[in-house]
Amino acid sequence: MFSKILLFDIDGTLLLSGRAGYRALTRTFEELFGVSRGFDGIQVAGMTDEIILTAALERAGVAAGRETRARFHARYCELFSDEIHFPGPRKGLMPGVAALLERLSQYDHVRCGLVTGNFARPARIKLEHFNLWSFFHFGAYGDDAAIRDDLVPIAVERARRDRVAVKRDGDVVVIGDTPLDVQCATVAGARSVAVATGSYDVGALREAGAHVVLSDLSDTNAVVDVLLRS
Ligand SMILES: [Mg+2]
Repeated sequence: MFSKILLFDIDGTLLLSGRAGYRALTRTFEELFGVSRGFDGIQVAGMTDEIILTAALERAGVAAGRETRARFHARYCELFSDEIHFPGPRKGLMPGVAALLERLSQYDHVRCGLVTGNFARPARIKLEHFNLWSFFHFGAYGDDAAIRDDLVPIAVERARRDRVAVKRDGDVVVIGDTPLDVQCATVAGARSVAVATGSYDVGALREAGAHVVLSDLSDTNAVVDVLLRS
């Protein structure tokens, strides 16, 4: 049986973690390299964690090989699981997300997955914190590829190994909040549904070429129609 694959971005699309990621990155950077505020002013929206880290290392003039990056990754994940419990600006689910995922889970032919620049472990910690993890069957993460454009095919391949197959590329839908989410859908031949709950408004997302732009995900019936339209 052919399915519809819905690939959700996390930050600004499903939820905001109240800058837990920023705080954990900053603490890790300071601990390992003795540099404070290592991530201030570095663009994060739509970027993979790998690229964000590379930008911070370059700016701080720190040379980090594979081993150092692995140490950073491990410590960052530890600190993230601590920071996620603290309050922060706009921390919480984006409007309509819980109801939408609940509804989508009732369709046999629909499988939700993740395409996120987050490393896999913090992605899971975030979604578990907000009780969303069980809605997602597969995903591609910031540690699978440095470039977001490479993530959609990885997620689709993982779906296929899970025996979830699509008839055509347009049966894969990428839902995200930045022009880079739109771009990674376009490159993969997938449909893109952009949602203006993150750092970009409806106009910017439309200009980026999204097939559909929504102001948020709160109207469950309307959003389901958009996502499952072929
Ligand atoms: Mg995002």
